[in-house]
Amino acid sequence: MNVSTKKSDSYRIQMVDLKSQYLKIKTEVDAAIQNVINNTTFINGPSVKEFQADLEKYLGVKHVIPCANGTDALQIAMMALNLQPGDEVITASFTYVATAEVIALLKLEPVLVEINPDTFTIDPAAIEKAITPKTKAIVPVHLYGQCADMDAIMAIAKKNNLYVIEDVAQAIGAEYTSADGKKSKAGTIGTIGCTSFFPSKNLGCYGDGGAMYTNDDELAKRLKMMANHGQSVQYVHDEIGVNSRLDSIQAAVLKVKLKHLDEYAAARNKVADYYDKAFAANKKIKIPVRAKNSTHAFHQYTLVLHESIDRNKLKEFLATKEIPAMVYYPKPLHHQKAYSNSRFKDSDFSFTVDLCKRVISLPMHTELDNETLKFISENVNEFTNI
Ligand SMILES: *Cc1c(COP(=O)(O)O)cnc(C)c1O
Repeated sequence: MNVSTKKSDSYRIQMVDLKSQYLKIKTEVDAAIQNVINNTTFINGPSVKEFQADLEKYLGVKHVIPCANGTDALQIAMMALNLQPGDEVITASFTYVATAEVIALLKLEPVLVEINPDTFTIDPAAIEKAITPKTKAIVPVHLYGQCADMDAIMAIAKKNNLYVIEDVAQAIGAEYTSADGKKSKAGTIGTIGCTSFFPSKNLGCYGDGGAMYTNDDELAKRLKMMANHGQSVQYVHDEIGVNSRLDSIQAAVLKVKLKHLDEYAAARNKVADYYDKAFAANKKIKIPVRAKNSTHAFHQYTLVLHESIDRNKLKEFLATKEIPAMVYYPKPLHHQKAYSNSRFKDSDFSFTVDLCKRVISLPMHTELDNETLKFISENVNEFTNI
């Protein structure tokens, strides 16, 4: 195969290219940051309220409560719901550690379950199997940018009187269509949605940031209070809270970037479409399966390699061409020492265990052009299509 050569010598392919994205909105972002500095409104400045209102409008949700990061968002959500030590919270074993970490940190019991091998999101049948009288909440993770099966999850939650905390860290902007035709943004369907503005997320700031969403007025008050030292009136502390704020500079950056979020999602989908076509004939690769009821935010473009392909060797081969690739995630959470538990049997996690050995994510961001995509996909095909 005739593999096209790399662009210029100075150009490096990256998993995420935040610099090129910044340069296109530099004037506006620089002015927004400078404005915060000029006014020295570093904490709780006007940009925080403005971004919050803009995001509420974009999501079509009543309340957005900004906080310091996505992990805090999940923790504060569980605190606001008054979950108690020993309460069981069901989530997927195939996720980023933060999801289970906050459950354990609050002395709740993380109950890890299997995923659907096509969508990589939590399997509703596995949730039902894991429910006990102690179960209080389900945390579906919209992994890689696609919504979990929310119709099924909400039905299970309703039947068993459970809270649903959506982990939207990878799927901001994705849209879910319920069986009744109603369209909702990811994170606005369950009791609370929790997201992250970590720089490499689809809506990333230039530091740390996060937010919680809810349509419940009372819950919104509690989330706000918990994020602010358990304080609803100044110097009155009826409950123990935390200190978790989105700072004004980050909010100012996010306010500018939110205007571009749909355009960024379109750019990511164009990349995914290119890859899909390039790998369509490659029998050693399974391309991402698009869920019927969710749009895809393509936080990651993740392939499942045929078992005959040595993933490490593929990574090494790509590295010789200066093409980065990453594995999200190499180990199921129930195999991690901190989260292992005799109640988790590998026989209940055959997809999760298998996929951890076979998934690989390719460069995915808003600034990839066809020439680069051609170079990446031709090299992936050259190594795997043997
Ligand atoms: C990034 C991420 C988080 C945590 O967000 P931070 O802002 O880094 O704390 C939680 N869950 C998932 C699935 C994530 O990808």
